Amino acid sequence: MKLPTINLHQPTTLAEALNLSNTLGPGSRFLAGGTDLLARLKRGAAKAAELISLVHIPELRQIRGLTIGGGVNLYSLLEVTDLHRQFRALSQAAAVVAGPQVRNQGTLAGNLCQDTRCLFFDCSDGLARARPLCLKRGGEECLAVPGSKKCFAAYQGDTAAALLALGAEVKIEHLGGSRRLALADLFSGYGDRPLSLAPGEVLTQIILPQPQSEIRSGYRKYRLRGGIDFPLAGVALNLVPPCSETPQGEVRVGLTGLSSRPQLLNLGGKASPDELAEAVHRAARPVDNVGGQARHRRYMACQMARDLLEELRNEAAD
Ligand SMILES: Cc1cc2nc3c(=O)[nH]c(=O)nc-3n(C[C@H](O)[C@H](O)[C@H](O)COP(=O)(O)OP(=O)(O)OC[C@H]3O[C@@H](n4cnc5c(N)ncnc54)[C@H](O)[C@@H]3O)c2cc1C
Repeated sequence: MKLPTINLHQPTTLAEALNLSNTLGPGSRFLAGGTDLLARLKRGAAKAAELISLVHIPELRQIRGLTIGGGVNLYSLLEVTDLHRQFRALSQAAAVVAGPQVRNQGTLAGNLCQDTRCLFFDCSDGLARARPLCLKRGGEECLAVPGSKKCFAAYQGDTAAALLALGAEVKIEHLGGSRRLALADLFSGYGDRPLSLAPGEVLTQIILPQPQSEIRSGYRKYRLRGGIDFPLAGVALNLVPPCSETPQGEVRVGLTGLSSRPQLLNLGGKASPDELAEAVHRAARPVDNVGGQARHRRYMACQMARDLLEELRNEAAD
């Protein structure tokens, strides 16, 4: 598949990128590693006449303490000393994104901002046009949930589940200002426009919370091909130790691959594996749209959550 003709702009500062986006308007898109966006442009599943590359902006590639630049690639992230010890869910999630080439090229912001996926939408233009168009391609209804006027395309980013469970925040910059929000607020829940970013906004930083010494976290992923594949279900857990606000502690759960947005659940620190599995079962409502049976994806999410909780608790007891 050929990439359509597109003008590529390569600013070297964030201010320049934001100005360019303002000048070029809605026909332009930001480009990071391109591993998600370029493939979609080739398939006709995304449109852009102008691309603004963020690759040559040094400030986006910096890691300062707990603040990770949006342009840091997943491979470099995995090189960060102490990441695995302090934020294991994130290092485990980043390590299983796609395969080595994609991790080397793909960035953390690009991973969070990747588009949703669905067999009816995320296919070649030719195939999409061989049947009635799905809602996300401009049709009348969602083909995965016939009759629905809501798009059910699935969000399948790995790191979002981990970062949600860890309590990360993100910094968004636009021409003339910035805002900082909890990661959960980056996602809209609508499959056809999954992010709450306004045109011209750049995700510049991912901010991790201060690690607590007893913090324990992990990520489990169910995918078809172990070497390279999107999560059909992904579960991150973070066992937050007791503090004055939550004397029993918390089990924070991040889910991905099961809905149009990554989901965050909060359970009391004493939740049993069965209670956790039940909460995941209630929250996870996948539909048959990304390979694997929805029922099985939901089952796997519950099972992975249960196993991971037992594993983290056993580790804590050692
Ligand atoms: C074969 C293959 C397998 C894959 N498997 C997985 C997988 O298992 N798990 C997974 O999570 N992903 C997977 N991906 C998806 C994707 O490649 C990765 O998520 C990657 O991290 C995306 O990062 P990128 O820098 O290449 O993003 P790009 O493709 O450059 O951008 C993706 C989207 O994010 C936007 N964007 C990028 N940076 C910013 C920013 N700083 N601010 C605002 N918007 C921004 C872009 O405009 C675009 O809409 C896979 C891709 C391929 C090709």
